[in-house]
Amino acid sequence: MKLKYYGTAAYEGFPALFCACDACKRARAAGGRNIRSRSQALINDELLIDFPADTAMRFLYGDLPLPELRHCLITHKHSDHFYPMDVVARCPVFAYPETEDPMHFYLPENCEKELALRLSEQPDGGRVKLHTVKPFDVFNVAGIYTVTALPAHHSAEAVFYMIEDGEKRILYAHDTGSFLPEAQEFFKKEKPHFDFVSYDCTYGLDDNGSHHMGFPVVLRMDEMLRECGCVDSKTVRYINHFSHNGKVTYDEMVPIAKKHGIGVAYDGLTVRI
Ligand SMILES: [Zn+2]
Ligand SMILES: [Zn+2]
Ligand SMILES: [Zn+2]
Repeated sequence: MKLKYYGTAAYEGFPALFCACDACKRARAAGGRNIRSRSQALINDELLIDFPADTAMRFLYGDLPLPELRHCLITHKHSDHFYPMDVVARCPVFAYPETEDPMHFYLPENCEKELALRLSEQPDGGRVKLHTVKPFDVFNVAGIYTVTALPAHHSAEAVFYMIEDGEKRILYAHDTGSFLPEAQEFFKKEKPHFDFVSYDCTYGLDDNGSHHMGFPVVLRMDEMLRECGCVDSKTVRYINHFSHNGKVTYDEMVPIAKKHGIGVAYDGLTVRI
């Protein structure tokens, strides 16, 4: 299994749009991995996680294989994860060939309603198919992946995903604050072993677990998963989804996370699991 991070920032990007704060200035001056675009990842070149506005740029200037993709998981309604205006571009007139060859979107109900409304304004020709996702739903994607949606401590109907391909199992924990009691109960009861975990680290070094996580909360959630047997010495762990409000650039975060054996995601990073 492999996962490529296409975008690793929160809504405003990092440096943030219109911002001249100290963290943004340091990120811009350092450049390279310190520059982060909005949240998106791709598993095994075929299973997309989230669809922000920055998706278009990854197709135009990068290697995101949009015409070939048929499956996308959406975590929640925030625009750094879900930009329905550009999903419409898969409809006839905008994308060829105009045959019924759907791209499947798996998404919470509030996202589904919004996307369905946009699609209703188009002759969609069966090119986009929607599947509602609720917390604790388990569903198959592409006949390969078993996906479990878990309730996120974040916004209305938000979920994060556990994804298995028959050999490996990953946890992509974005966006969420400290795991909700019902999610923790799930880990304690089911004890799924993760080969890879990607933790939310929006708040940088702040000890804050409300709607997102800071690094001290990541370490506590990691310890909780370790106690459940979900994480062990073989688990590859990364932190992701950074904001200037966390005040830590990539270069500044790497040595701190390294002490705990945790990697720091950056735009374009591919992790082989
Ligand atoms: Zn986000
Ligand atoms: Zn800033
Ligand atoms: Zn969000």
